[in-house]
Amino acid sequence: MKTVTIEEYGVNTQYDVYTFGSGEPHITFTAGIHGNEVSGIYVAQRLIGHFIKNPPVKGTVKIIPTVNAAAMRCMQRRSPFDAVDLNRVFPGSESGSISHKLAASIYSETADADILVDLHCCGQHGLPYILSVYSESAKVRNLVNRITMPIAVHSEGLGGQLFTESCRKRAQAACIIEIPSGAGDGAVNLKFADVCFNGLMDMLKSEGVAAGKVEGHAPTFYGKLIDINATHAGLWQPEKEIGAAIRAGERIGRMDATDVYAPADGMLIACLPCGYYLDDKPYIGMYVQKA
Ligand SMILES: [Zn+2]
Repeated sequence: MKTVTIEEYGVNTQYDVYTFGSGEPHITFTAGIHGNEVSGIYVAQRLIGHFIKNPPVKGTVKIIPTVNAAAMRCMQRRSPFDAVDLNRVFPGSESGSISHKLAASIYSETADADILVDLHCCGQHGLPYILSVYSESAKVRNLVNRITMPIAVHSEGLGGQLFTESCRKRAQAACIIEIPSGAGDGAVNLKFADVCFNGLMDMLKSEGVAAGKVEGHAPTFYGKLIDINATHAGLWQPEKEIGAAIRAGERIGRMDATDVYAPADGMLIACLPCGYYLDDKPYIGMYVQKA
């Protein structure tokens, strides 16, 4: 293990890099780019635990479990030093503030990856999914196809993210995995962390990096996430289960006395539980359509 320190005007942040095995292929995992997304950090640490006991059969596995350590310590998404969202500033800059320097360092540390999986969290009330720009590259689609989690979603493809920059500027096979968080700050969703860990182990087996047979199935590919918002604040009472297949125009639930309908044939990938949601046009869930 090596520790990298990034310094700027009296503050610093550090990250640890665990490397197992040697040679091709190079597979890299990052987590904690957003400091409060701890289910991802937990999965990265489980992968470290696995490779300490079972070194790679072939190839190199590099794991950076807590990229944004200062943000994690504050249990928040952004750096406490400069309030920058680290996953918007890749490939980073040596001359910028500490988050820009950290991004540049992580971008360089992940430059040799053939496969790069960045672990994140997607809120408490939904299903885990693989997020990628699978339509842009056969290499990416092939990677996603071998991570045996049930759901693969197409990203909006916003630039400045580690995975989008890595796919487009370095022709790497890169993706994000979004794992639901546990109930409360710092809480891990163990059930979905397991789904993610097992899906990644299957990918590592299919690469010949980990021993054993692939056990899971290729994901179903969906389009981009569609936010569902109610027309007004009030008492939300959902009627469909998360994961349910729903037809266009079917009722998902009611906001006070107003029906909220499915925007298209698809699946409810996230949905808030019964409660009072008092924002203007409050968010109540997310929806995906089969690709
Ligand atoms: Zn994130």
